[in-house]
Amino acid sequence: MIRRGIVLRREKDKAVRNRHHWIFSGAVESLPQGFVDGGLYPVFSHEGEALGHAYANSRSAIIARMVGFGPGDPFLALRTSILRALALRRDFFGEGEGTNAYRIINAEGDGLPGLIVDRYDSTLVVQVATLGMEKLKDFVIDTLVAEAAPAAIFEKSNMPSRREEGLEDRQGWLYGESENRIRVFENGHAFCVDLADSQKTGFYLDQREMRKLAGSLAEGRKVLNAFSYTGGFSVYALTGGAASVDSVDASAKALDLARDNFALNGLPEQGNGFYEADVFEFLRDPPAEYDFVVLDPPAFAKRKTDVLQACRGYKDINRLAIRRVAAGGLVFTFSCSHFVDEHLFRQVVFQAAAEASRNVRILMRHRQAPDHPVNIYHPETEYLKGFLLYVD
Ligand code: SAH
Repeated sequence: MIRRGIVLRREKDKAVRNRHHWIFSGAVESLPQGFVDGGLYPVFSHEGEALGHAYANSRSAIIARMVGFGPGDPFLALRTSILRALALRRDFFGEGEGTNAYRIINAEGDGLPGLIVDRYDSTLVVQVATLGMEKLKDFVIDTLVAEAAPAAIFEKSNMPSRREEGLEDRQGWLYGESENRIRVFENGHAFCVDLADSQKTGFYLDQREMRKLAGSLAEGRKVLNAFSYTGGFSVYALTGGAASVDSVDASAKALDLARDNFALNGLPEQGNGFYEADVFEFLRDPPAEYDFVVLDPPAFAKRKTDVLQACRGYKDINRLAIRRVAAGGLVFTFSCSHFVDEHLFRQVVFQAAAEASRNVRILMRHRQAPDHPVNIYHPETEYLKGFLLYVD
């Protein structure tokens, strides 16, 4: 019998019953008659029990992504997830607390696969990763306009993963319009975010807590901000009383914005370096001795098959930083690859420390900021981890 929905194979329903959002093609027994890629369908167990609703795309290895669990209207489930996401941020980011840039929808972390929405002051930036979410976009935008009352909504859907979904990149205003450059505040620091010409949605919001901590540790230290992007850690460190901060990034554009961000915060460029360079090269022959090194590289492992190569990269930069940092210095090291979990990352840092022949202690461990919640039922939402190291 062909049912109206997606039918899972016998005993392949456990993940969905555990509220995991992804259904892999191997778990599917049959697709409904007249199936179209990107459509929203009910999902049934082999025995015919209704498990919820998912949107599906036969081109993807993750053939379907759940948007609602259990019986019930999937649009109500979507709306509920959006409202819950907004309520969480209202709890954590009240008015007048010095921060008006934060993630309001974190994909599966908020039960909304394929959808990221960041708030930059009164502008929202939306990233749609999947065909199924593309087809739900109008509903999402209408709900956001009604419930979050933004001045404007910008779409910045330009992730390589869209190719696998059969989608082109898309960038532009979806609702209202504002400047492409937005000034935001984060813990009282001012930053300029370029919506159109930037990485991610414009700013690495997931490091907000870590930037704050780095600022509180920086007093009197010579700081190296490696992989600085637009100077987030640099601005916090200098404001926190660092003796100097050198910022290193491969992107000249990011460094230009870092300079603008210094100016916005009344910080001098003089005495602080901006290096357009490859961090791997830079660390081999740094121009100064630092006593606080921040290592915040991009995800070296984007796929599971990249893990080994990625670990080599992480080990290299950590070995170089640990070897070079002054005695009594700090290394604040991060990995944002989901596939390199905390345990593995710690092993890599262990190897790096051993090869650098320095005495290293872990003072603190870190995670992504709370506006990037980890869905306990969907562990793939956990990706950022960091160690604050003390090097004798
Ligand atoms: N710490 C930043 C975010 C870093 S994102 C913040 O708080 O905002 C990673 C950055 O690394 C990007 O800006 C990217 O341009 C840069 N990058 C990637 N590979 C690099 C390399 N090999 N050398 C130098 N910079 C690199």
